[in-house]
Amino acid sequence: MFPRLDVANIAKICGLASFLCKKIIFFVSSPIILSFLPFEVNLHTNSNIRIMTPQEKRNERLAQKMLRSLQRRHFEAYYCRTREDIIQQVKALIPEGSSITWGGTMTVRDLGLPAILKQGNYEVIDRDEATTEAEKIDAYRRAFTCDYYLSSVNAISEDGVIVNIDGNGNRVAAITWGPKRVIFIVGLNKVAQDVPAALQRARSTASPINAARFDIDTPCQKDGVCHNCNSPQSICNYIHFTRNSHPAGRHIVILTDLALGY
Ligand code: SF4
Repeated sequence: MFPRLDVANIAKICGLASFLCKKIIFFVSSPIILSFLPFEVNLHTNSNIRIMTPQEKRNERLAQKMLRSLQRRHFEAYYCRTREDIIQQVKALIPEGSSITWGGTMTVRDLGLPAILKQGNYEVIDRDEATTEAEKIDAYRRAFTCDYYLSSVNAISEDGVIVNIDGNGNRVAAITWGPKRVIFIVGLNKVAQDVPAALQRARSTASPINAARFDIDTPCQKDGVCHNCNSPQSICNYIHFTRNSHPAGRHIVILTDLALGY
């Protein structure tokens, strides 16, 4: 009545089961089928299908909205979830032989991009290698003739306005004019509801943390909150809004799930 379970039959049954499993996975992962599922599935992982966490769902939806907001303002924009994706995207954007530098950005450093770019076929200007103040100023000036300038942002509004605050002004100057293209790497943690909220985030969150990186005498060093100071050592001397990318596409934004920078 039933086939005998010898080695050959067991192998056939296992093969059939494996075939059916693959078909079921293919069927379930079809985008058409996914649209009818009562839950969302992350297809961006390489191999395994898994249910997105609430945070990932929100990031996905927010990132898609931000991409539209940025494109309306003539930015080129991408969404990269992981560090590896960001590094691949940066490499894909920058042709070999290009000159590259960056501002005082913890995001770029946290990603390990300086070391990665130095290993590539690029001309890298790293102000952290300067041994004197004169060398550092020279690196700031050379940024204006670079092909690519990497930066983060202090905040970005949901409709795509970028806010940055500078002590010296070299970063916001280069964002405004000079380098052929500017690449912003922006954690979705820096998205604020509107421009006033973005400015508030930049002033009350990013700036006091950035101030804590330096040995400066400012009120925020004492209690961690911004006092809107006029200290000679203030790191908040230039407040900059990038409302549109001009010329169109000069600024590139890479959004990421990673909570980078401050
Ligand atoms: S206290 Fe001064 S230096 Fe500190 S965040 Fe406020 S304006 Fe900037």
